[in-house]
Amino acid sequence: MKNSTHFYVNQLVTEGIVLTENMQKQLEMYKNLLLEWNEKINLTAITDEEEIFVKHFVDCLYCAKYITKEDKKIIDVGTGAGFPGLVLAIYFPDKEFTLLDALNKRLVFLEDVINKLGLKNVKLVHGRAEEIVRIDNLYENYDIAVSRAVAQLPILLEYISPYIKVNGKCIVMKGDNVDEEIKVSSNALKVLNLKLLRKNLYSYNVKNEEYKRSILEIEKINETPKKYPRNYGKIKKKPL
Ligand code: SAM
Repeated sequence: MKNSTHFYVNQLVTEGIVLTENMQKQLEMYKNLLLEWNEKINLTAITDEEEIFVKHFVDCLYCAKYITKEDKKIIDVGTGAGFPGLVLAIYFPDKEFTLLDALNKRLVFLEDVINKLGLKNVKLVHGRAEEIVRIDNLYENYDIAVSRAVAQLPILLEYISPYIKVNGKCIVMKGDNVDEEIKVSSNALKVLNLKLLRKNLYSYNVKNEEYKRSILEIEKINETPKKYPRNYGKIKKKPL
């Protein structure tokens, strides 16, 4: 396991993502806790150690390329077992992270990881994204919103874009066949005052299989109209 981890750690260096010894130790602890807790609650379908390292940790670390020095406050909407938010919090100990999820049992797991790893830069929020932004008044509160595997793009943008400041960014992790989702998102982008800046493609190999992925960078060019996000029923019934 250690040897194969080194291979991927070195590969990340070529992307400009450098993990310190301490970060690698923290990821190792995170992986062990994930496997331990996964026996009790459903956190991940991936149980092979090398695959966890690549498909969860390395995958999430690719987001680091799109987060700048100026970005201080980051929210991960629908974080699940901490992807990508907790991995990024390990990589950026000087930035503040909020991990939000509707499922409390996953947050109980995250709390254990945060305590055992001694992370001081992570806050957990329980609730639905489209409700919490109003309840906790988190409109335009973050520099960046990240998200992976939560909803189709038009729905996801309505969940996450209210949280970011004007000129802030949504960093959305998707598979490589994202063009259709982008096509059906033109109205959502317009209505929510968003602009797709770039579609970044990347790939990695694990166990002789290639995985092609994409990261969308979407900028908020103006405030979110206060009628958004709508309630879940409306979002689901009539996506933007
Ligand atoms: N982002 C993680 C990952 O990539 O492994 C988890 C993905 S999992 C498929 C989707 C997660 O999003 C679940 O933990 C679910 O509870 C959460 N979720 C879905 N809709 C949500 C919403 N409207 N507000 C908050 N969390 C939501």
